[in-house]
Amino acid sequence: MNNFQCKRCGACCRGESTVSLSDEEIQRMALFLGLSLEEVLQKYIVMKGEKRKEMRTIDGYCIFFDKEKRLCRIHPVKPERCKEWPFPPIIFKDRENFQIIQSFCEGLKSLIFEEISQSDT
Ligand code: SF4
Ligand code: SF4
Repeated sequence: MNNFQCKRCGACCRGESTVSLSDEEIQRMALFLGLSLEEVLQKYIVMKGEKRKEMRTIDGYCIFFDKEKRLCRIHPVKPERCKEWPFPPIIFKDRENFQIIQSFCEGLKSLIFEEISQSDT
């Protein structure tokens, strides 16, 4: 384990595009939100190209990001790529990738690559 602490800066939920979603992930969101699949697709999902599905963004943030509380509104069912953040597997192997992610994740600022690469988080 390492000493990572999320600072709720919101940087990982910011941007005009979000992670790509699988059908299973969208289905989980629908169950969690108590909505039909069609409702979720209409309200929260946007197509990028012919096949890629992403969460919509509002004012530069993922539609599920609560700006006041600085939290994810669908935390229990958030997509796998969101769950692994800020530790995608690549971060343990490559100092350059660690530095790129560290440059905008406030919680990683005080950590060093050696600490991350030796941890099992
Ligand atoms: S689903 Fe949650 S964790 Fe993922 S980008 Fe949206 S607000 Fe952030
Ligand atoms: S970028 Fe890092 S510190 Fe900021 S909310 Fe995401 S995980 Fe937390």
